[in-house]
Amino acid sequence: MALGEFELIARYFQRNAAPRNPAVALGIGDDCALLQATPGLANALPTDAQLAISTDMLVEGQHFFADVDPAALGHKALAVNLSDLAACGAQPLAFTLALALPDSNAARLNWIDAFTRGLFALADAHGCTLMGGDTTRGPLNICITALGAVPTAQGRSQALLRSGAKPGDDLWVSGTLGDARLALLALKAQHGDRSPGAPRWLQLPPEVLKLARTRLERPTPRVGLGLALRGIASACMDLSDGLVGDLQHILEASRCGARLLAPVLSDLLASHRLNSTALTPPERLSLALSGGDDYELLFTAPATRREAVVAAAGVADTPVTRIGQIEVQEGLRVVDAQGQRLAGRFASFDHFA
Ligand code: ADP
Ligand code: MG
Repeated sequence: MALGEFELIARYFQRNAAPRNPAVALGIGDDCALLQATPGLANALPTDAQLAISTDMLVEGQHFFADVDPAALGHKALAVNLSDLAACGAQPLAFTLALALPDSNAARLNWIDAFTRGLFALADAHGCTLMGGDTTRGPLNICITALGAVPTAQGRSQALLRSGAKPGDDLWVSGTLGDARLALLALKAQHGDRSPGAPRWLQLPPEVLKLARTRLERPTPRVGLGLALRGIASACMDLSDGLVGDLQHILEASRCGARLLAPVLSDLLASHRLNSTALTPPERLSLALSGGDDYELLFTAPATRREAVVAAAGVADTPVTRIGQIEVQEGLRVVDAQGQRLAGRFASFDHFA
């Protein structure tokens, strides 16, 4: 028995009994949702605020495998948007969900049920309310727009931007890098990916794949860290396309260069448990430097604020690592522990070509 559009919305998305963010004056059900405008937005903010708005679309085949666990997909669809809010130091308020579904048969209803379970678990953990959206028939496609609040103090926005890095600033990253791409390569091999350069040979020990896969499919948006870094970080962004490529965005926006200390290998990538694979040390480094899908925060802060950064990381219960320095000279210089420039292009997947 297939469900109609409005029954789908009422059954899976409306959630009349769930607590809603106080900024949402009117939720699902009318032509528009109503978000309370400043002042007093979200009741929690003592000053005026700006709305931070970010959209991310997930397309089957492009961003996820058709057989991915729907609960994990629900989590990730929102997580990537919350990660953008985190990167700006915004407090999540609400989000919209535009969903294209191929059908609404019994199997699909089970799928939606699991999808919304993953979605709402993360939403509720961040007090972020589903306030509206659209539901249509079509190839599976998920588009979320998330709204957050950033305070302004004396008319000045406290949003963390890409453009504020200054020569002499430290370069920091949260969490670990490269695990998600490690999982993606292994899963692609499992799916028999026949595209040029697909690593058919990468087989991971089951327990390693499980850990890496969690990082790929259930990234943790660093919302608490983003909030704690307001007033401390000089620039910030979230890592979705890989450290080296994404860092260029900060360098271009801030008109400066950087020295990046390699390696920043995760425990997994450094682990002897990978020795059974054919992954060489340069390939592991390449995963960490240009892997992608990490959803960690990359940020800069004045060297005088090191203790403040560490304290913020403690408040947010999120590990951070200092990985380099902003320099006047434009461009990016990747160096090893001895300060030697590393050759090689880390911005792409040449190692796996
Ligand atoms: P309209 O035709 O006015 O755009 P719809 O009939 O598409 O409105 O949607 C009815 C209500 O359900 C609206 O409040 C809309 O925001 C909400 N809605 C529709 N699809 C979703 C969804 N996937 N998630 C959350 N809310 C949804
Ligand atoms: Mg309408």
